[in-house]
Amino acid sequence: MKLSELYTGESGVIVNVKGHGGFRKRIVEMGFIKGELVEVLLNAPLRDPVKYKIMDYEVSLRRAEADLIEVVSEKEAKILEQQEEQNQDGILLDKQEAQRRRMREMAHQRGKELTVCFVGNPNCGKTSIFNIASGAHERVGNYSGVTVDAKEGVFSYEGYKFHIVDLPGTYSLTTYTPEELYVRKYIIDKTPSVIINVVDASNLERNLYLTTQLIDMDVPMIMALNMYDELRASGNKLNQALLGELLGVPVIPTVGRTGEGVKELFSTIIAIHEGRKNTFRHIHVNHGRLLEENIDKVEEQIRVNPEPHFNYSARFLSIKMLENDKQIIEVCKRFPNYNDIKATTDRCKQFIKEELKEDSESAITDAKYGFIRGALKECFVKKTHYTRHLTQYLDSVVTHKWLGYPIFLLLMFITFFSTFKIGEYPMIWIDNLVSWIGEQVGTNMPDGPLKDLIVEGIIAGVGGVIVFLPNIMILYAFISWMEDSGYMARAAFIMDKLMHRMGLHGKSFIPMIMGFGCNIPAIMSTRTIEDRKSRLITMLIIPLMSCQARLPVYLIITGAFFPRYNYLVIFGLYLLGVVLSILMAKLFNRFVVHGESSPFVMELPPYRLPSAKSVFRHTWEKGKQYLHKMGTIILLASIVVWGLSYFPQQQEGMTREQHMEQSYIGRIGKAVEPALRPCGFEWKEGVSIVTGVAAKEIVASTMGVLYSATDAEAEELEDENEEQSRLSRIISHSGLTSLSALSFLIFILLYMPCIPACVSIKNESGKWKWSFFTIFYTTALAWICSTIFYQIGSLLI
Ligand code: GDP
Ligand code: MG
Repeated sequence: MKLSELYTGESGVIVNVKGHGGFRKRIVEMGFIKGELVEVLLNAPLRDPVKYKIMDYEVSLRRAEADLIEVVSEKEAKILEQQEEQNQDGILLDKQEAQRRRMREMAHQRGKELTVCFVGNPNCGKTSIFNIASGAHERVGNYSGVTVDAKEGVFSYEGYKFHIVDLPGTYSLTTYTPEELYVRKYIIDKTPSVIINVVDASNLERNLYLTTQLIDMDVPMIMALNMYDELRASGNKLNQALLGELLGVPVIPTVGRTGEGVKELFSTIIAIHEGRKNTFRHIHVNHGRLLEENIDKVEEQIRVNPEPHFNYSARFLSIKMLENDKQIIEVCKRFPNYNDIKATTDRCKQFIKEELKEDSESAITDAKYGFIRGALKECFVKKTHYTRHLTQYLDSVVTHKWLGYPIFLLLMFITFFSTFKIGEYPMIWIDNLVSWIGEQVGTNMPDGPLKDLIVEGIIAGVGGVIVFLPNIMILYAFISWMEDSGYMARAAFIMDKLMHRMGLHGKSFIPMIMGFGCNIPAIMSTRTIEDRKSRLITMLIIPLMSCQARLPVYLIITGAFFPRYNYLVIFGLYLLGVVLSILMAKLFNRFVVHGESSPFVMELPPYRLPSAKSVFRHTWEKGKQYLHKMGTIILLASIVVWGLSYFPQQQEGMTREQHMEQSYIGRIGKAVEPALRPCGFEWKEGVSIVTGVAAKEIVASTMGVLYSATDAEAEELEDENEEQSRLSRIISHSGLTSLSALSFLIFILLYMPCIPACVSIKNESGKWKWSFFTIFYTTALAWICSTIFYQIGSLLI
């Protein structure tokens, strides 16, 4: 509870003082130390200041200051007392003395809970360290923006309970991106006990820029010098102890991939917290005489107002005012003397501009880099090292003006070929297992609806989709590897020009590729695109990226009609999605989404050989997700579709086909059939399309149920083609032609994304309007493309 919440006459024991460094120091100097007892002498509601007694003398604190002091109150201690009394007979202790002791104990306990957050550039290894510390399995990836939300974890270490928070990656603490704003707000509002500034040791100069801003904020912090293995391997020499001294921040080398140094990191945090380690001190990043003078002038105006300045350090506010930071201007507007602050700021900005021939914002940035260069000159000796060479060498090839594109296509082709050709073997094994189970149940169970449900509903539906588990895992392993190795960032880089032509940015490319895995995280990852217009357009075209859920349908259909060249047909479908997305982006850019786009930097992380473990883990996570979907929504959908196709019950003399047609599902199919006839679909395809709206895998499982053949038919087809799955074999003997089959695949590729994806478009764009727009345009596009394809195809054949 907050000290300000105690009433007159109550007392409390101090747990913690929050706020920026300068404020904390002053409060602690006044005697508000952890474990100390404070008594409230006078706390009138609505009255400032509040009078306290601490260490036997009286002090006044303003309410805003008392808000930042955490205490254990008598009330809280009483609750504990009551609990204890039930357990033990009265011990003869002075009642008041006992209570104070209890409060101290509680304060001590509570002081052993620390909130720690990771702040650092994208891709510096925050999530890796977070995972090691908390034992979680958050996604790590070798490009910016994998972590878009704060992830929290809890663990205990050396008697302390740590709440750790993995914040999104940022290059600085300005407010150009939502991430930056988010991180800054988090630090100010949540006042974490210690900030872990994760720094990529192989890219010090740029990473330390953020560090200098954290120093300006004057928050307690520690530096995790991550990627230390790379620093070692590079032959560069860094005196990290000296760096820590220069910056006033303890520096702990870590290797996020192996966990080296992570224990020491947390031990040091405890040491800082307990005041055992005094390497932490607040320094000022020196911006040079001229800037410093002006920073001081603005700061002076801010300091007219009493602490704690809405939790910001006055110096930070001053620097940010000079940098024209919109959010900080809003904060300063809350000061009564805002007009003075603004007038001073304007004068200073003008002065800086005249003197330095540069606006104050870039002057401050330059000065910070100057500070960093200076610091590094003292403690860092650079050697041209092999990663550099290797990176440059590889980059010159894979981002080559001409070579880059064929290499990209080749890699994609290898990915697809392996996914479908290598995946075929385990697919056949699983398929055999599924049909064996079906046969066992078929022969051993008495006839009746239950048997039909199990064989024709569940086994045919779920079994029809589960056989593709290996393909999906292989595809994901490839995508994962390309992301982690850093290749994906290169692909984005070479695509930048092309993307600009679409009115997008190279950064849009990664969400698009991620869309091949699943559209939902892809839509979420558009948050890293700083430019609103590009972000929205990217979001709108992601559904055209063929997600894995559509894969089973492709595999079934191509298996039925093009068993030998299935991977080529599927590759073509993916390509079609990409080409259409380009066209759509151009259209949206011109007609639908308005506004200016602004350029921004694209970065190339160094290449890293992804650890087999991490690739394996991502792949397995995907596999697990897939299996989970099988056991839940796909199972349910299979049963529902089966039920709708089973009832009303079969009448005497009806063939299976006739029965299906007059079943409920047949009626649904017949109802949508006219609309889909121009595309060349029969009612069974119509039904699959309708059911697929919940999740695209259901398209395949629905086909599994609808096309499940009777035993006699199945046996006939049994030995025909070893490379085909059972369902493919059946479909190849159905009424579908290869032309309408292809047309169907085009429709499945393009038509509306699943409902969860639509919801995430709403969440990311902030408006339902864009979800509905997506549903409408994709479905229209699907219909038009399928119809054109089918009609022209019919004329030619
Ligand atoms: P974040 O964006 O800061 O959360 O970074 P991630 O934790 O996602 O890591 C980015 C990439 O760097 C991943 O491919 C990690 O496997 C890799 N990585 C993380 N820490 C280290 C490290 O200490 N050394 C090396 N060589 N690679 C690391
Ligand atoms: Mg991360």
